[in-house]
Amino acid sequence: MASLLSQLSRRVVRSAGHGLRLRNGSTKTATSAAASKGLNFELSPEQREYQELAKKFAREVIIPVAAQHDRTGEYPWEVIKKAWELGLINTHIDQAYGGLGLGTFDACIITEELAYGCTGIQTAIEANSLGQMPVILAGNEEQKKKYLGRMTEAPLMCAYCVTEPVAGSDVSGIQTKAVKKGKDWVINGQKMWITNGGHANWYFVLARTNLDKSCPAGKAFTGFIVEADTPGVIKGRKEINMGQRASDTRGITFEEVVVPAENVLTAEGMGFKIAMGAFDKTRPPVAAGAVGLAQRAMDEALKYSMERKTFGKFICEHQAVAFMLADMAIGIESARLAMYRSAWEIDQGRRNTYYASIAKCLAGDVANKTATDAVQIFGGNGFNSEYPVEKLMRDAKIYQIYEGTAQIQRLIISREMLTKARQ
Ligand SMILES: Cc1cc2nc3c(=O)[nH]c(=O)nc-3n(C[C@H](O)[C@H](O)[C@H](O)COP(=O)(O)OP(=O)(O)OC[C@H]3O[C@@H](n4cnc5c(N)ncnc54)[C@H](O)[C@@H]3O)c2cc1C
Repeated sequence: MASLLSQLSRRVVRSAGHGLRLRNGSTKTATSAAASKGLNFELSPEQREYQELAKKFAREVIIPVAAQHDRTGEYPWEVIKKAWELGLINTHIDQAYGGLGLGTFDACIITEELAYGCTGIQTAIEANSLGQMPVILAGNEEQKKKYLGRMTEAPLMCAYCVTEPVAGSDVSGIQTKAVKKGKDWVINGQKMWITNGGHANWYFVLARTNLDKSCPAGKAFTGFIVEADTPGVIKGRKEINMGQRASDTRGITFEEVVVPAENVLTAEGMGFKIAMGAFDKTRPPVAAGAVGLAQRAMDEALKYSMERKTFGKFICEHQAVAFMLADMAIGIESARLAMYRSAWEIDQGRRNTYYASIAKCLAGDVANKTATDAVQIFGGNGFNSEYPVEKLMRDAKIYQIYEGTAQIQRLIISREMLTKARQ
């Protein structure tokens, strides 16, 4: 490990100011895709450096331990700490708070490579972005300094607590309530499926603050930052999921949890908008995770198909198998472009809801088809845990569920289309 880190360090080191220092000695801080002068498919030299660093990290740090974390479900702290040292986590926290301030496009390049190694480990890393995003988008100066700043000073995790046992897709149906008592708020309720739930240092929590059922969602909810060690925060057991088992998913219960008024994001009633707004920035990296998984599945299937013989031929020479591989490539290339577009749009300061949903939906579907077909190409071996593709198939499924299901993405895309058509 020491040799890998020093090797990486020669290329890109994490400076005291939490910046990826590039080979030429300059410290990369803000911006992502450079201002476009026209369509351009080239990554910048800096972006290629991030990509290469993340790729090397996935190959040399993540892949060797991925199967073990999948088997045991043990949280990948050792990987997270190394990723933090190298600046591969929390990439979007602004320089003002000790972060790198990278754009969404840059984050996606890194995420795709980490996901190639293991999407369970990458989801644990990515959930920090989801938890932090409401603070990045809606936090005031003190909140950002305190809660984002601390993530750049030590390898800490946070989590996004919105879903409940009774409501996932229908966020306006959540029942957790916050009631004002003097200067404080008191939260009661139960959250479910919270990634990083057991390891978070703090939570973003969405709670209903206007109990009048006729109040529109846009005014009925408030977003809070809640310290994980606040009395009354009860962490449930780690859920045993189909895939991405390195990631920690739990129910979190809030019982008479007192939160100071200064931990309200923006203002009372603004929570729904903040919680939903985060997805425009986090869905492109989720799509990048799915693309990374699909790429891994295709690479594994291609390699296997060039080694395995049936009827006197390598199986890649059977047209039925070759066409499966071709369909994988078609899907991955399309999903990657959609993901790049969705990230690039938001980096240009434009609303990317439509593109983010297209990218997330397409990449999730492609990851599932590619992983399933990779198992097919491996035949009986594909069904066995000694080979890498059954894990990929299990891991892929969640991409059609979390951060908005495949159906909800289609709902958003069609709404966006109809709104535009009616203008
Ligand atoms: C591993 C994992 C990690 C997660 N991490 C987090 C996290 O960190 N934070 C967090 O807040 N949440 C998290 N979630 C929750 C996740 O976002 C929800 O599970 C998801 O949004 C779906 O909600 P649901 O499970 O309640 O399903 P439901 O909303 O009950 O949906 C069930 C089915 O009905 C379909 N459906 C629902 N409404 C419609 C509609 N209007 N039109 C068409 N079809 C519809 C859905 O697409 C789905 O197929 C996580 C979930 C999992 C499994």
